Amino acid sequence: MGIFFILSDEERRVRDLVKNALGSDDTLYAFPDEPFYQFDHVKLYNLDIRTRPDAVTYPKTPEQVAAIVRAAAKAGLAVQAKSGGHSYCNFSSPDRGIVVDLRNMKRFSMNTETWRATVGGGMLLGELDECLYSPHNRAVAHGGHATIGGLGPSSRLFGMALDHVEEVEVVVADGQILRASETQHKDLFWALKGAGASFGIITEFVLRTEEAPGETVQYKYSFTSGSWARMADVFKSWQRFIANPNLTSKFATTATITTLGLAISGTFYGSNDEFAQLSLKPDFPLRETGSKTTVRQNWLDVLTHEAEQVALKLGGGIPAHAYTKTLTFNGSKNNLLDDPGVDELFSYIEHADKGTLIWFLIFDLAGGKTNTVPMEATAYAHRDALYYLQSYAISDKLITGVSETTKKFLAGVNEVIVNHMKADGVYTDYGAYPGYVDLELGTEAQKLYWRENLTELERIKAIYDPGEVFRNPQSVRPAVAKGRIATNDVKL
Ligand SMILES: Cc1cc2nc3c(=O)[nH]c(=O)nc-3n(C[C@H](O)[C@H](O)[C@H](O)COP(=O)(O)OP(=O)(O)OC[C@H]3O[C@@H](n4cnc5c(N)ncnc54)[C@H](O)[C@@H]3O)c2cc1C
Repeated sequence: MGIFFILSDEERRVRDLVKNALGSDDTLYAFPDEPFYQFDHVKLYNLDIRTRPDAVTYPKTPEQVAAIVRAAAKAGLAVQAKSGGHSYCNFSSPDRGIVVDLRNMKRFSMNTETWRATVGGGMLLGELDECLYSPHNRAVAHGGHATIGGLGPSSRLFGMALDHVEEVEVVVADGQILRASETQHKDLFWALKGAGASFGIITEFVLRTEEAPGETVQYKYSFTSGSWARMADVFKSWQRFIANPNLTSKFATTATITTLGLAISGTFYGSNDEFAQLSLKPDFPLRETGSKTTVRQNWLDVLTHEAEQVALKLGGGIPAHAYTKTLTFNGSKNNLLDDPGVDELFSYIEHADKGTLIWFLIFDLAGGKTNTVPMEATAYAHRDALYYLQSYAISDKLITGVSETTKKFLAGVNEVIVNHMKADGVYTDYGAYPGYVDLELGTEAQKLYWRENLTELERIKAIYDPGEVFRNPQSVRPAVAKGRIATNDVKL
């Protein structure tokens, strides 16, 4: 006996539209009546957020992308590009909309005079690294997506992924295929560098590349035994160390707190000798604690290591019931948590009910080259953050969602920090990294993601996409629609 999947009238209408746009080659699209459609084509990353797009498309050319966008615009459907598919809220799979999966758009070429690489919009980070490094000894900053930010260990050295973008080919809401750069469609280019999903589908990036670093040192120190108060002291020292305004941008560092304890890890883009000199500074936290280690093979260290890989590397993004939250510590002044604040935070971590064993609080040092770019140079709005907190939890019950207890725990971490700083009158300006999307931010989301650049983004949205063809639950709204439609009222 076969299994039949029946399309609704609306789904049939979308199927006809897509087929009209792309023709008879059925490798270019899939519809919900296909067996295993959700599993084989939609492939949601966050199993807690269920969406069911009306079609998943696999265009091979910018013209095909343009045809899909034109058809969707005419029918009033949402369209979103999909690259790695690791949006924490599945924004690349719009409910009742069309997915433009860019997996067939991975061309690559290198200009060996300018060292600018031309890269298809569907190229994944690992693939890009290989194309750049193996034949050319070149590199770009790692992590995240170049239309959002793209923060990784080498961002202090090279800038974010989006700081490498010098030109793009982009399909906009009316189906035009445009080139955008500092000299062509400058305002659109500005918006695409930080809020790309709201403005179009980038089918090609032209990237500035850097000579790949030579010797690098990767380090990790785990504090998996001892009291939470002791870990708080290590964290205080770590904060003091990263607050040094002269800290070399070759040094990347992360403090990760998990069920197992605290780990300080990162990469130094220089020689081992240079690194040794750096760590010999008297205020280096690991010297103070005397617990400097290399990665060990005991079970706890292995677990901590693996857990970090899952959280920090896109390759580890296995579908899961997940929830993430961020806090960007913006502001030009000293925006660290003071020592009593750190004690309060660690006491909260020790005593709060977490609802799961799989949770991470990841404090990532930002700054370096990323923060030398002026805030108004791109839509990305966190150039003044010294560090970011990314918190992340996965349900350990496998088939059930992230519990309210877990969400409350992560929200509580942010609250403890913000309330303490506010009470001290130290600092009141916080934001959220738009790569770690969080539906719980509600109507505040856009303001937290794009801060003072939001008004300009809304103006540009009204020019290029007034009908909100490119939309997700937290996309930029066009200036004209503000006040008329509440942020979360958009039909997706
Ligand atoms: C396990 C894990 C690790 C992470 N680590 C990091 C990290 O180290 N650094 C960091 O900065 N972020 C990190 N993130 C967050 C990451 O930045 C976002 O999840 C990002 O959206 C992933 O990009 P993607 O292509 O995989 O996602 P997708 O889901 O494919 O896309 C995400 C959003 O970008 C839009 N988009 C994708 N491609 C295009 C395009 N060509 N044109 C226009 N819009 C496009 C989509 O429509 C969607 O709205 C991590 C996320 C996960 C799940």
